[in-house]
Amino acid sequence: MATDPSGVEAASRRQALEDFQRDIEGVACLTADDELRARARDYYWYSPVLEELLKGCRADIVVLPATEEEVVRVAGAAARHRLHLTIRGGGTGNYGQAVPLRGGVVLDMTHLNRIVQIEPGAVRVQAGAYLEAVLDAVRTTGQQLMIYPSTMSIATVGGFIAGGSAGIGAVRHGILRESGTMRSLRVVTLEESPRTLTLTGPDIELVHHAWGTNGIIIELDLALVPAVDWLQCIALFPSYVDVMRFGGAVLEAGIDVFLLSAVDRRFAPYYADFGYRFDGSADAMFSMVNPKDQDRFAALVSVHGGRLGMCMTPQDHTASGLPPVHECAYNHTTLRALKVDRSWTYLQMVVPPERAPELVAVQMDRYGDEMLMHHEFARLAGKPRISGLVALQFLDEERLDEVMAELVQDGCHVMNAHVNTLEKGGRKEMGAEELRFKRSVDPLNLMNPGKILSLQ
Ligand SMILES: Cc1cc2nc3c(=O)[nH]c(=O)nc-3n(C[C@H](O)[C@H](O)[C@H](O)COP(=O)(O)OP(=O)(O)OC[C@H]3O[C@@H](n4cnc5c(N)ncnc54)[C@H](O)[C@@H]3O)c2cc1C
Repeated sequence: MATDPSGVEAASRRQALEDFQRDIEGVACLTADDELRARARDYYWYSPVLEELLKGCRADIVVLPATEEEVVRVAGAAARHRLHLTIRGGGTGNYGQAVPLRGGVVLDMTHLNRIVQIEPGAVRVQAGAYLEAVLDAVRTTGQQLMIYPSTMSIATVGGFIAGGSAGIGAVRHGILRESGTMRSLRVVTLEESPRTLTLTGPDIELVHHAWGTNGIIIELDLALVPAVDWLQCIALFPSYVDVMRFGGAVLEAGIDVFLLSAVDRRFAPYYADFGYRFDGSADAMFSMVNPKDQDRFAALVSVHGGRLGMCMTPQDHTASGLPPVHECAYNHTTLRALKVDRSWTYLQMVVPPERAPELVAVQMDRYGDEMLMHHEFARLAGKPRISGLVALQFLDEERLDEVMAELVQDGCHVMNAHVNTLEKGGRKEMGAEELRFKRSVDPLNLMNPGKILSLQ
């Protein structure tokens, strides 16, 4: 009889599943085939390479605990019965992060979604809460989150911390790991008798962007800042290089922005809902601007030869029926293109900020219509951090590798979006300290199997 990767034979695996279900009696479960397939997917289909690799994956059971006590029971039972366990938030990750490569249990966190406490400067929240619900709740106290992904309406707090890296707000507060937004995390270990750990300070980094391989985040303490009614703006420029120069100038001038997303005019057919505001006649900077800096922002647009295609208060913007500007940025830009034309895929890189405009001009010449430009401005260690999330016509894997190698040659740091392991993705070091922590919280190596190369 064939053995599965954890060494449990197929028949005993069925038995293990039955025993597991018995041990967690009372916890909500899904076992219908369509649910098992649906909850084994995320947005990996952005990559034709990952689509081919992951499309057959399926959970054996989906569990939806609603309390911490239920999470602990699930963790203990999975360990006792040697079942793999893959955590799922909103399932919006792009690299198959939440895909159960070896079946087993998918732990859906979305029922553990309570906002526990809001105080001046901080919110304590359960991991399965949707970010938008948290933002709405803290706004009633005059505060807001420091950073959130463009998927905030369907992504969870725990999923963002375990799977995300930057987002809306990173241009003001820095990318997630340096923003100071993560004050503490409570994590359940995957052991026969699970422990609950509280991580603070540098220990948080062990779990941040570890794709749920090293503990189940159950509760988070996040920093808050005073709320701002960000203006929703689109600044239009004669060339994409002008947009890039403008982005650098906004940061240098210290204008208070919450989003600066440079979008190539060739994306305009995928932004048809914005009509004349972004119609393909100019390149754009989708921006969220503090009203106190509106005049300085507008003046700088003019200095760079541009004009404002849109600048609305959040209230007017909501009334206009247009999508929020944050849903035009980060991987929503790629999504817009893919919704219309599935021949696109994408690449992710960090561009050297000091020569970004010139380098992007060279790349536009080199790739022509094979590549559409899109860059996000953020901050890292007090300096600008410019990441490219460019759309690329998909030919084959060989061409993807060739283009990524050329970008590396250009001096860009490429994060491969077409692989499914932490190390190859290029965002997370899995050094001795990380592996030691992983062994201590998941000694049976059951969590999200296959995502750490050195433990395969
Ligand atoms: C259109 C689009 C736009 C995006 N924009 C951004 C962006 O602006 N910034 C950004 O960083 N990312 C972005 N992403 C990626 C993704 O949406 C975010 O990282 C998001 O925050 C993930 O949250 P989720 O709840 O969907 O997590 P999931 O996709 O469900 O999970 C992500 C990873 O975290 C793990 N995980 C989930 N919950 C827990 C938990 N409680 N404890 C431990 N591990 C857990 C999962 O196992 C998985 O490995 C985007 C993706 C898409 C498709």
